[in-house]
Amino acid sequence: MAKVIDSKIPAGPVPEKWKEYKAHQRLVNPKNKLKLDVIVVGTGLAGASAAASLGEMGFNVINLCIQDSPRRAHSIAAQGGINAAKCYQNDGDSVYRLFYDTVKGGDYRAREANVYRLAEVSNNIIDQCVAQGVPFAREYGGMLANRSFGGAQVSRTFYAKGQTGQQLLLGAYSSLSCQVNAGKVKLYTRYEMEDVVIVDGRARGIIAKNLVTGQLERFSANAVVIATGGYGNTYFLSTNAMGCNCTAAVQCYRKGAYFANPSYVQIHPTCIPVHGDKQSKLTLMSESLRNDGRIWVPKKIEDAKALQAGTKQGWEIPEEDRDYYLERRYPAFGNLVPRDVASRAAKERCDKGFGVNNTGLAVFLDFSESINRLGLDIIMQRYGNLFEMYEEITDVFPGDLANEINGVKYYKPMMIYPAIHYTMGGIWVDYELQTSIPGLFAIGECNFSDHGANRLGASALMQGLADGYFVLPYTIQNYLADQAVWPKVSTDLPEFAEAEKKVDAELDRLLNIKGKRSVDSIHKELGHIMWEYVGMGRTAEGLKTGLKKMHELEKEFDTNLFVPGSKEGLNIELDKAIHLRDFFTMGQLVAFDALSRNESCGGHFREEYQTEEGEAKRDDENYFYVGCWEYKGKGNEPELIKEPLEYEAIKVQTRNYKN
Ligand SMILES: Cc1cc2nc3c(=O)[nH]c(=O)nc-3n(C[C@H](O)[C@H](O)[C@H](O)COP(=O)(O)OP(=O)(O)OC[C@H]3O[C@@H](n4cnc5c(N)ncnc54)[C@H](O)[C@@H]3O)c2cc1C
Repeated sequence: MAKVIDSKIPAGPVPEKWKEYKAHQRLVNPKNKLKLDVIVVGTGLAGASAAASLGEMGFNVINLCIQDSPRRAHSIAAQGGINAAKCYQNDGDSVYRLFYDTVKGGDYRAREANVYRLAEVSNNIIDQCVAQGVPFAREYGGMLANRSFGGAQVSRTFYAKGQTGQQLLLGAYSSLSCQVNAGKVKLYTRYEMEDVVIVDGRARGIIAKNLVTGQLERFSANAVVIATGGYGNTYFLSTNAMGCNCTAAVQCYRKGAYFANPSYVQIHPTCIPVHGDKQSKLTLMSESLRNDGRIWVPKKIEDAKALQAGTKQGWEIPEEDRDYYLERRYPAFGNLVPRDVASRAAKERCDKGFGVNNTGLAVFLDFSESINRLGLDIIMQRYGNLFEMYEEITDVFPGDLANEINGVKYYKPMMIYPAIHYTMGGIWVDYELQTSIPGLFAIGECNFSDHGANRLGASALMQGLADGYFVLPYTIQNYLADQAVWPKVSTDLPEFAEAEKKVDAELDRLLNIKGKRSVDSIHKELGHIMWEYVGMGRTAEGLKTGLKKMHELEKEFDTNLFVPGSKEGLNIELDKAIHLRDFFTMGQLVAFDALSRNESCGGHFREEYQTEEGEAKRDDENYFYVGCWEYKGKGNEPELIKEPLEYEAIKVQTRNYKN
């Protein structure tokens, strides 16, 4: 029988209401003399917004990141936009509708209360960012412009061309810089958190590695917040930045923080297909393209075969021989179905032999209809940088006229295929964003978040900034109110010394294996196992095989790894080896969770559990819970703990994007 936890009871001690209120008043008073330190690990949108807000509220913040500047956090890559329920388009949007769409998009596996709060603060985020000067796209009349993303029938996505993440991060960074200047935030760039230090059951600090000197350093504080992003790179090939890793999250998990829903991994339908085995990165073509691009494969298998052989081009296939399979299967949402649905539909077509490139693993994303309707200028205004990026990578410009059949102009289509993109699973947090370790908080993509089993497009930035600007700065005070009377612990405590010693010993262990294989060669193999057995279509048998193969490969890692150089100074290979050690733990966790969940929901698709039409088949009777995992040591199976889901405002039903 699995243990059961309740999200409504914060993991830390709950202070009496009156005491909490008084302490809260003291903390937010600008004249307060209290010194409360908070470590924020990460400077992506979640970390930078949290550090800036906490600094502004009077806390002393220690903020770390692995890049040389907070502006280079992976959040910078976000292209398409950020959702909010402003209803500027007068199309019937509302807080409730955003809340409903998000819960439905997540296949009814999100925590309802969190999602409602997220929808409520979504509008504040836009106001906050506009005030910071974020240059959102505007209509001719000056109103902020919107477009649509998957899983929604309204236009609620705010955007800055195809660079929304970059512009939002610049906004957060300017707020952060103000606090650095005011002395409230101390920034440590090129530092990597290697461990969290627990003193008397509470998170009291971290051990971080100075990535330039190689030195280990100790930091102590009254609370620790991790905002270190997702674990998509476990799969080696993903749309994530190369530096994305799950080391901080996995260390927290090893120290007792529950890890929730690891099997919920998002596979994004519109990425540039894999084109060779020397690739180390995949490129996303933003979901915003599905506003005007139509996805299709040929209707006739002989056309598909000719495309695969290179004897025919997409633009030679006339309209009547094209299968716009998303529009056919899901008439109500068409090309804007959620990502999990679109990805599986692409896989289904390609598995049946209708793929359109030489590997048979690609479908077309075609702008002919919208260019004919709106003109190339308008399409370029909307997606210019994405078209250019596609051309740079593939040498095909999607706006080039290629053919005319029966008076219809055909433009060169993009080719796309699903790829690992985002992780809905993460460190378990309660409603206050506190993990199961008191004093340790997790925000942004690294927590298990508000997206359930599938995240809707443009909702990650919303969640990261909601956590950082509007949730954590308030909820953390419920914990800190109680801490105000405690002195900050010394980094000379034995707990710090022991944690540092263990990290140091790990570095020695990895350096001294002195085997024959590079980190990347093993990581690539792990990625193949993950994609093959723990990827888009999973089976119990495949997951068991995947776990077995991962164990074997982990042994290879432990005995045959070669890390050049030493601990001193910059050693990127050593840093990558640490990340890979943790990707192994993560990969196994994803597989355990996927194996334990005998149903299909959102990004977790078990082939044994599907409808006759190939749709995901949930089992609400047995799996209506957040699956949390407790670490039980290397090589041991983790223990499952369940947080039952409770829905009060939304009726749980089968997702329907057809009508
Ligand atoms: C190509 C692409 C496009 C996307 N487009 C969109 C979009 O249009 N809309 C949307 O809503 N979402 C989008 N997403 C998702 C979104 O960008 C991310 O989910 C979000 O930016 C994550 O923010 P974060 O702050 O949680 O983490 P990140 O931005 O990943 O930041 C992590 C931070 O933690 C630091 N860090 C990591 N490990 C350590 C460690 N051990 N020690 C110290 N520091 C550490 C890093 O230095 C970094 O500062 C996109 C994602 C990708 C890959």
